[in-house]
Amino acid sequence: MKFETIIGLEVHAQLLTESKIFAGDASSFGAEPNTHISAITLGLPGTLPRLNKRAVELAVRMGLACGCDISRHQIFDRKNYFYPDLPKGYQITQDRTPVCRGGFIPIRLKSGEVKSIRLNRIHLEEDAGKSIHAEGHDETLLDFNRAGTALIEIVTEPVLTSPEEAGAVLAEIRKMVRYLGICDGNLEEGSLRCDANVSVRPQGSGVLGKRVEVKNMNSIRHVQRAIEVEATRQIELALRGEDVVSETRLYDAAANTTRSMRIKEELNDYRYFPDPDLAPVVLSDDWLNAIRASMPALPEQVVSHLMEKYALPEYDARVLADDREVAMYFQSVCEHTPFFKSASNWLMGPVKSYLNEKGIEIGKFPLTPAQLAALVNLIEAGQVSYTAAAQKIFPAWVLQPEADPAQLANALNLLQDSSADSLGPLVDQVIREFPLKVEEYHKGKKAIVTMFMGEVMKRSKGKADPRLTQELILQRLKKS
Ligand code: ADP
Ligand code: MG
Repeated sequence: MKFETIIGLEVHAQLLTESKIFAGDASSFGAEPNTHISAITLGLPGTLPRLNKRAVELAVRMGLACGCDISRHQIFDRKNYFYPDLPKGYQITQDRTPVCRGGFIPIRLKSGEVKSIRLNRIHLEEDAGKSIHAEGHDETLLDFNRAGTALIEIVTEPVLTSPEEAGAVLAEIRKMVRYLGICDGNLEEGSLRCDANVSVRPQGSGVLGKRVEVKNMNSIRHVQRAIEVEATRQIELALRGEDVVSETRLYDAAANTTRSMRIKEELNDYRYFPDPDLAPVVLSDDWLNAIRASMPALPEQVVSHLMEKYALPEYDARVLADDREVAMYFQSVCEHTPFFKSASNWLMGPVKSYLNEKGIEIGKFPLTPAQLAALVNLIEAGQVSYTAAAQKIFPAWVLQPEADPAQLANALNLLQDSSADSLGPLVDQVIREFPLKVEEYHKGKKAIVTMFMGEVMKRSKGKADPRLTQELILQRLKKS
């Protein structure tokens, strides 16, 4: 019997608000434990939460970008449960009136296929604190700094059918939140978190299988591997005639397995009810229009812009626009060089390899856009060859970014020959060896000059300065 896997994702994104969603505490990452915990965050008696307008704005931005319906009337609900990292005993969330409904995330698969992944909703909620189980200690330590931090939860419909699709959705969400400036998209640090709901069913069956929610993945790769092993586990259960238990399982990256964390309650026992301390939120037309008008450029718009303004092929534009910061860096480079395609090649080639090798983002790349442009210009002016620049100058320069590229090239003995004394004899040689071509030139075939250029270049082993070479050739041709 053949099985198919069905996946739905729940992605939590920590919003880049200065303060928490219902309190003035800073929502900064990495502070001393329990230093951003006002009475509101702790839910002490008599305190009143107050909604952070900015959080709603950022959530609306995501909704607009995904083509969702924006709810104009929203309430916040209390989701009641006991857990040590939840100081109030309930989480404030949007159960019945998510800020966004519907919408979709476009993904592009390796096969080139483009799919629209339907969203169920995007809602606002507050984050919980953090339980810390320190190595060698029995106690659970609690840090409430994160409690009350603004989150959006992006919930897809159960429509994904492979780990590749799930990875593509997550990558697209990460790209979008970064473009929108609403979340830093850092999976490793947990500002973007993905839970994967996985079920299997016999191929062609119209009904969904029982689902398992898998948590604890902190990279796209882990999400994909977790789905893979969980689906395999469920298929093996099914083949043995056993039932899948609806539960939450934790992914163990080291062992590449999932293990049971808690059995999912079949019945909703959270006793959701509208938070009586928070007034309903009503979004005015004016405010919504203002957000619409201030939407930053989205990935697809940047792709078109790069193709139009810099005449880049679509492939280049997509690679560059995959990371908003890289696209911005590219545009800065182009302020210092007219050779756009070369700049693009440099970013997609040597620069990207360098960043991958070092495991860093373009923000930490040692060369400024102006410096990279200077290297491109040096090559285009014929002073150094591309090979020398990529293999010798670039690796040396990133180690000492304060250096001057021309001096570096000189020190590495890579500067192309630009002295008439050494080029002159080569030019003479070439003119002597091709009398027929010289004749053609005089008959009006001016383009033949490039053939002479090529010959001189070859004989100088690529070191001849093209501009000077051309000048010398023209001089000699005039005399001959
Ligand atoms: P809950 O809030 O209890 O987690 P939801 O209805 O909000 O339940 O669904 C959560 C996620 O589970 C959604 O992403 C949805 O697409 C996914 N999901 C629901 N049913 C299935 C299923 N049978 N197989 C895979 N994913 C599912
Ligand atoms: Mg859920």
